[in-house]
Amino acid sequence: KKLTFKNFPMVPRVVFGAGCFDQLGDILLSKRKHSEAPFIFLVDDVFEGMELVSRIPLLFNDQIIFISADEEPKTGQVDILVKKIKEEYSDLPSGVVGIGGGTLLDLSKAVSIMLTNKGSATGYQGWDLVGKPSVYHVGIPTISGTGAEVSRTAVLLGPEKKLGINSDYTTFDQVLLDPDLTKGVPKDQWFYTGMDCFIHCVESLEGTFLNAFSQSYGEKAMDLCKEVYLEDLEDSESRDKLMMASWHGGMSIAYSQVGVAHAMSYGLGFLLGVRHGIGNCLVFQHLEEFYPEGVALFKKMQQKHHIELPTGICSGLTSDDFDKMIQVSLGMEPLWENALGSEWRNIITPEKLESIYRKI
Ligand code: NAD
Ligand code: ZN
Repeated sequence: KKLTFKNFPMVPRVVFGAGCFDQLGDILLSKRKHSEAPFIFLVDDVFEGMELVSRIPLLFNDQIIFISADEEPKTGQVDILVKKIKEEYSDLPSGVVGIGGGTLLDLSKAVSIMLTNKGSATGYQGWDLVGKPSVYHVGIPTISGTGAEVSRTAVLLGPEKKLGINSDYTTFDQVLLDPDLTKGVPKDQWFYTGMDCFIHCVESLEGTFLNAFSQSYGEKAMDLCKEVYLEDLEDSESRDKLMMASWHGGMSIAYSQVGVAHAMSYGLGFLLGVRHGIGNCLVFQHLEEFYPEGVALFKKMQQKHHIELPTGICSGLTSDDFDKMIQVSLGMEPLWENALGSEWRNIITPEKLESIYRKI
């Protein structure tokens, strides 16, 4: 029998601590190839004009490119960025630095891969399709929860599918975790992205793929989420802990899988452009039958922080729309198998999915 144990890469270097952003210049210095090979900083445009930008350690012909996170990253957007960088510089960059949430982190991972691999990013959505090592890339999260800072995937919306570039070259070479960078996150967004982490934990811990590796990280992340969202921590302690929860949550799913909420949220994302964090929350609240304890905790957290989720998201949809969402969702086979076991097709039918979508 063929052995299928995953041999996956981890982030080889990480720096953690409030204020550690100011160490970035020193970290990059040893990775500069020469003065013509710039560092490209892809930065969430919420930081445009803010103090953080003045602390970015620019040298030589380095460049900051501001990018909006209003929409999730797209394959076409990656292709345009790569083309622009190649046109502007005769040399390959020394590296790419992503500063922002999951959107900017995934974009940065994808750009660093596509700078050394031919064609369009669409050609690499899937598993282990990347042939050449990427350029050096650094991830600097400014909001906590997705685990994109540790994962080996860069999720992109393509013309035909929403799917990650999953490869050994996707993982960051360096991550900088400075909890102070998350200070300005709006409360709703703090909840939605944090709940992404919480839902990663529930789906990993309740899944059939669970193993001691995933469980050890998932339980830690779950405990941290409970502290952050159910206790009254000092702000700085809360920021520190949520950042580490995200890390552990990401590590937990690296060796297992996510489940029902993610599979259904992908459908909402593809058809309606509903973003990952809020999409997961919209679905998860209706999943009592699959995750009774998790949903009860989620509602407790939601109440404590007075978060009201929008309603009527699916009310105007046609039956074709529902079919499309259901098709995208059912396409996420490993997620369903993790959630419900190998006989999942007998448990989750299109009718069942439609009835849940209709509640959203
Ligand atoms: P995001 O990057 O989409 O950002 C959400 C919002 O928060 C944006 O408006 C952004 O401008 C704002 N924001 C971020 N940091 C801020 C700060 N410090 N101050 C003020 N505003 C700030 O959010 P996200 O939830 O982190 O990422 C979602 C994306 O992550 C999706 O595209 C999803 O597919 C992806 N994702 C990837 C993985 C992975 O393993 N690669 C895992 C989960 C999700
Ligand atoms: Zn997620």
